[in-house]
Amino acid sequence: QHNAIQLQDAGHHIHPFTDTKALNKKGARVINRGEGVYVWDDQGNKMLDAMAGLWCMAIGYGRTEVADAVHAQMQELPYYNTFFQTTHKPVAELAKKLAEISPEAINHTFFTSGGSDANDTMLRLVRHYWASLGKPSKKVIISRKNAYHGSTVAGASLGGMTFMHEQGDLPIPNITHIGQPYWYGEGGDLTPDEFGLLRARELEEKILELGEDKVAAFIAEPVQGAGGVIIPPDSYWPEVQRICDKYEILLVADEVITGFGRTGERFASETYDLKPDVICIAKALSSGYLPIGGVMLSDRLADVVINQGGEFEHGYTYSGHPAACAAALKVLEIMDREDLPNYVKNDIGPYLQERWLKLADHPLVGEARMVGLMGALELTPDKATRAKFAVKAGTVGLMCREFCFDNGLVMRAVGDTMIISPPLVLSHDEADELIAKATAVLDLTYAAAKE
Ligand code: PLP
Repeated sequence: QHNAIQLQDAGHHIHPFTDTKALNKKGARVINRGEGVYVWDDQGNKMLDAMAGLWCMAIGYGRTEVADAVHAQMQELPYYNTFFQTTHKPVAELAKKLAEISPEAINHTFFTSGGSDANDTMLRLVRHYWASLGKPSKKVIISRKNAYHGSTVAGASLGGMTFMHEQGDLPIPNITHIGQPYWYGEGGDLTPDEFGLLRARELEEKILELGEDKVAAFIAEPVQGAGGVIIPPDSYWPEVQRICDKYEILLVADEVITGFGRTGERFASETYDLKPDVICIAKALSSGYLPIGGVMLSDRLADVVINQGGEFEHGYTYSGHPAACAAALKVLEIMDREDLPNYVKNDIGPYLQERWLKLADHPLVGEARMVGLMGALELTPDKATRAKFAVKAGTVGLMCREFCFDNGLVMRAVGDTMIISPPLVLSHDEADELIAKATAVLDLTYAAAKE
């Protein structure tokens, strides 16, 4: 029996990434409140949101300070654009703030409404950069299989999810994909470091195959998120950086998930010692309180784009939306005040990690991994061989996800990999609760999967 909201929803709402037909039969779960790391549904069920919404709710739900800042901005100037030689205080302040907190060479931001349009913008910007330098043939973007870079035409093309490519005739031309550094799933008998090097060198092979005069950039998430929290072996990133430097290929770090403290530094580029030319941001920038994203450029790129490229023919009505900028400024202030990246690096990160990695002892878990506050559990029917389940891939993962919901925990299933990315403000008690619930849910899934 659907309630009024479920009826409206089932009658008229097409959901993203959802089998809406199946959902409509069942009725969507109605979430109506959030506080700290918890959300409540309309039945009064309280759930620890170990996914921070969609990776974004870094500072936790219910921060009235952010609402107040947005309210004040909306009363003063709810909207104005940043086209045609105008600006306003919140966008200028936010651009300056981002320059201060980003890696040293990165000092300029183009604003978008989210991560997908940040990646669209990135694609046009890097091609514009090379064309401005008289190298218009450098336009291929190399990305990775199983990457997620958004759902717009360019975002989904940059992404390496074949099930997305199959809808809508993607990828668009001049985007190509190499293998991912997914050691658990694809490393075979190699050590993680051997495998990391192998996958990094695919980049070099691809550049040589295409010709370096054809390649504009390599884009990657420092830690692949939606692909299943794929944490690269230590050998991977230094080799990728070396290859990008050697062949003059721009390195684009898609930090839409990893930006603003998730891996224990403000940017995962710092965690992995990367020197990106471009960083794409969204999500935790405003902690999801309002939609905002951006493309951050190094001085080298910005100089060419601003001073040599002429006008960049690109922009969104909501590029630098005042209320969204006000939300982001308040979120960044809170992150500073509460020293959240440091809390992740030196306190809650190691605390949760120690307990999370022990879940690998569970008979259903083939590997547990975590960096900062993003982690994964690989479910398997046979730990020794890392075998796949006899039932269709993803069946056990979905079962586990449902057990999570029923037991007051939000985890996400990527196939048969369970992933988490809890709010950065998670306390020790809440971390204990997360582990206790995850353990209970693994027990339930183990019993059910055996049947
Ligand atoms: N890039 C990465 C790495 C993401 O994880 C996502 C979303 O999950 C995006 C881009 C797309 O961002 P948005 O959903 O804000 O368009």
